[in-house]
Amino acid sequence: DLIFADSLSRLGTESAFMVLARAGKLAAQGRDIINLGIGQPDFQTPEHIVEAGIKALKDGHHGYTPANGLPVLREAVAADLNRRHGVEVNPDNVVVVPGGKPTMFFAVLMFGQPGTEIMYPNPGFPIYESVIKYSGATPVPIALEEKNGFTFDADDVLSKITDKTRLIIINSPANPTGGVTPKEEIDKLVAGLMDHPHVALLSDEIYSQMLYGGREHVSLLQYPEIRDRLIVLDGWSKTYAMTGWRLGYAVWPDAAVDHVTRLCINDHSCVNASAQYAGLAALTGPQNAVTDMVAQFDKRRQAIVSMLNDLPGVRCADAAGAFYAFPNIEGTGLTSMEAQNRFLDEAGVATVSGTSFGAWGEGYLRFSYANSLDNIEEAISRIRKLL
Ligand code: PLP
Repeated sequence: DLIFADSLSRLGTESAFMVLARAGKLAAQGRDIINLGIGQPDFQTPEHIVEAGIKALKDGHHGYTPANGLPVLREAVAADLNRRHGVEVNPDNVVVVPGGKPTMFFAVLMFGQPGTEIMYPNPGFPIYESVIKYSGATPVPIALEEKNGFTFDADDVLSKITDKTRLIIINSPANPTGGVTPKEEIDKLVAGLMDHPHVALLSDEIYSQMLYGGREHVSLLQYPEIRDRLIVLDGWSKTYAMTGWRLGYAVWPDAAVDHVTRLCINDHSCVNASAQYAGLAALTGPQNAVTDMVAQFDKRRQAIVSMLNDLPGVRCADAAGAFYAFPNIEGTGLTSMEAQNRFLDEAGVATVSGTSFGAWGEGYLRFSYANSLDNIEEAISRIRKLL
């Protein structure tokens, strides 16, 4: 028998991919499945971006690029961050990677090892806990509660810091809850971190352009006092409907840039060149496709939150950002996993159990509203019948 490394038993997964596979199987058997399970925009990548990718291939961009990304792309990222957040970023601190996930993996590997602690949101994106465990570090959950708008309480986070803490991960707008952290809470966290200069911060801002109801994104890049230990993750997957292109970036502190570049060289050499040129067109071209997409998400958000609140035994908080609603379903008498399985098997509606995002997700179910309004209405009416 093969003898695998022990570390593999600590590696988790992202259940949304499993739900997607199961939904695909049912659909292949002829079942009519509505997928509110997967976290990706249902829109196509805008045409001018696709054309730029094709052009790059035709123009002969077939070779390696610098490991940290094309200089012109890193400059465009810095300009985009300046446009959106009013901040100065040195393009040398930008590292382009294949999607949002590699930044998480590299940041955790850079700071995590046995004997250290890394804090992460729970319920939160499942890959955080998975890679923390994989690194050998101890995962320390930050409980996100509905009564706090599914965001962290800065005093709670600060009280959990020990001399073993190496990294704190935060995420706003958040997956799976749609929660958005208010500026006051970020102010408080950053001020408190001044007493803990050994602690790095990873701010996952992949949904930074998906906020609703007049809310504005607060980027951690707007806090110069923490730049020397701040990693800000963002990318193209959600904003430009480019999940399959595998393109993302992060802004790293000076002290970490060489380390992360070496991780890139060891792992993937560079992101494929045509995707980088497509990403360049996304940042430098017209932004109306983004505005249109966000406006459509907002309509669906309002519809799904109100329809969920009308279901017996279901209560859904206002989802302020991203494209997820995270209703409490305890009143239905079903556990989260029972609801996920029965909604899929009996109603043909794919959702993801809150427990897939950590223990604090029990009692909740994640609905992605990256689907048409018609499909969302049909899905909720099927669930209503089942309930
Ligand atoms: N961060 C969060 C909070 C996410 O929800 C996701 C994707 O679902 C990612 C990062 C990863 O994005 P990518 O597909 O670009 O790796």
